[in-house]
Amino acid sequence: MTFLVLLGAPGAGKGTQAPILAARLGLPHVATGDLFRAAVHEGSAVGLEARRYMERGQLVPDSITVKMLLDRLAQPDAALGAILDGFPRNLAQADILEGALADRSSRVNVALEIEVPEAELVRRLSGRWICKANGHVYNETSHPPRVPGRCDLDDSPLIQREDDRSETVAARLTAQLTALREVVGYYQERGLLRTIDGRRPVAEVTAALAAAALAAAADETGSSPRGAGN
Ligand SMILES: [Zn+2]
Repeated sequence: MTFLVLLGAPGAGKGTQAPILAARLGLPHVATGDLFRAAVHEGSAVGLEARRYMERGQLVPDSITVKMLLDRLAQPDAALGAILDGFPRNLAQADILEGALADRSSRVNVALEIEVPEAELVRRLSGRWICKANGHVYNETSHPPRVPGRCDLDDSPLIQREDDRSETVAARLTAQLTALREVVGYYQERGLLRTIDGRRPVAEVTAALAAAALAAAADETGSSPRGAGN
């Protein structure tokens, strides 16, 4: 089995890469955010439990998230492994995941980090501008207006929402990066981290991710299945 943890800051391209990589490797893409929505929608026992916390505006405890995750990993399509997206988000979750997989004589085989410098992340996340009159959406990099600051369609001024301003984005990102760096360090210490440069074109990033994942899978089949040897 190959369990792959996909790591990356918001804006690093994880959301783009995860489904492509899943198709390429023939492994299911298991995103914890999707699991929550599905469990709540289906009204499963664990979903109802999760909903109790969400309705009170509280974070769903890691124990519930892990239970949901393990249920998902027990499905037939995950028999050969899975790509985990959105979990673990912090050190405590990384420890819980390690213990839970160890109980099943399994482990995380490789953690793939899509790395993009912080300044570039801020640039990617804060480039959104909206036309004041009709809400037409522009992006400084991917879809810039012909005349800076004016809407192409109605010449109305373009404004930025508070959430999309670079200072707001940078502040939010700093908090998220702290937790991410801890998780990255966790897998680095265990010799499981592979870092991929996320500034390259999408197809090149996919190729690098797939190559690192396949190398890890080959290591796994080549070594004796002791599990916690390293
Ligand atoms: Zn407009």
